[in-house]
Amino acid sequence: MKRAVALTALLSLAILAAPPASAAALRAGARTPETTSPKPAGHRPDLGRRTLPANDGWAAEGPGTTGGVAAPASNVHTVSTRTELATALAAPSPKIIYVKGTVDTDRTCADYATGGYTLEAYLATYDPAVWGRETDPSGPLEDARVASAARQTAHIRLKVGSDTTIVGLGGNARIRGVNLHVDKVDNVIIRNILFEDTADCFPKWTPTDGAEGNWNSLYDNISVTGSTHVWVDHNTFTDGDNPDSEQPRYFGRPYQVHDGQLDITHAANFVTASWNRFSGHDKTMLIGSTNNPANDTGKLNVTVHHNHFDNVLQRLPRVRFGQVHVYNNYYEIPDASAFQYALGVGVQSQIFAENNFFRLGRAVDPADLLYNWGGTALTARGNLLRVGGRVAPVDLVAVHNADNDPDLGADAGWTPTLHTGIDPAQAVDRSVSRHAGVGEIR
Ligand code: CA
Ligand code: CA
Repeated sequence: MKRAVALTALLSLAILAAPPASAAALRAGARTPETTSPKPAGHRPDLGRRTLPANDGWAAEGPGTTGGVAAPASNVHTVSTRTELATALAAPSPKIIYVKGTVDTDRTCADYATGGYTLEAYLATYDPAVWGRETDPSGPLEDARVASAARQTAHIRLKVGSDTTIVGLGGNARIRGVNLHVDKVDNVIIRNILFEDTADCFPKWTPTDGAEGNWNSLYDNISVTGSTHVWVDHNTFTDGDNPDSEQPRYFGRPYQVHDGQLDITHAANFVTASWNRFSGHDKTMLIGSTNNPANDTGKLNVTVHHNHFDNVLQRLPRVRFGQVHVYNNYYEIPDASAFQYALGVGVQSQIFAENNFFRLGRAVDPADLLYNWGGTALTARGNLLRVGGRVAPVDLVAVHNADNDPDLGADAGWTPTLHTGIDPAQAVDRSVSRHAGVGEIR
């Protein structure tokens, strides 16, 4: 993989005929993706005390995002287990939590099951051939599923308070099977962690969801709901050895055990997602969860920059309502059968897609980079498309409109101002594939 990425970078530079001096300048000029305060030479940078750089996306709005920087020494925690993490998260704010090694849930699905729930019984009872497709499951076995799911939720959903920084130590910090819930709080930083396989043990069958029914799951790796000033940076999101692509089909539909990797919903606002790697997943990043909001209007403003969307299926991101600046991201989508769309243009969304690099397999249709979920317009500028060895500018809106109706407009109605500089798109595949994800903060 590393070798393939490096080769890709070399090839694309060669194809663009960028002179070496220019490439070096790009690297040198690429923003150091974190705040740096003067540090004595030879001392390890204290990741827990770093804050979001000024102007670095929507999370820099107003007071900006400083997380737990003001934590007293007595409120700095190092955790290696789920219990230690839960205990640290329950401490007063401000606080800094270092994750050392792997935090796991240390439970299996069997530990949560109650009331007689088994998947076999659930499948037998709610098989459309038995239950039909007109009404959603109900009765003792659905009650048992709900009760079992509640036990799992109580164990794996951990709430993150205000003025908190959670940061991985070194390059191998991992949080597995946990849903971090940043709910109705302000000022949170989450950095340098591998988030892995937050699987739902008890997916729900909903025959009335879509034409053929769907299996749906509860948990994201990180859920940001109703919160402000959140910076999610240099993390890797993966389903590990339990990818969506390997799940079975039941009732003719994929047995979906995951929800989002990073979902930002319920009137959350002022979020920056930078330098993360999202890999091998279906529903990747949802911004806004309903077309009929109580109070999403004017919120859900998010900046998505320098992320690596690597072999992911949809929602990269999918947006409702928000002014969302999507710039300098690297989309690597080799397989048409494992791809639906990149940018979901939803109700009242205002996506500004700028200087992204889309590397597509030959069978992937560039018209599918956008999907219209009821939006009206998207601003696209400076985006590059690479198919095979060819790198060329792509007008996302024009390519989409040529294949789809109704057309999307080309002006989302705003111009982003909160950023620390936009890199040339031709630098993005190289810089992002090398430096996004866990273990890359320097
Ligand atoms: Ca979700
Ligand atoms: Ca059209």
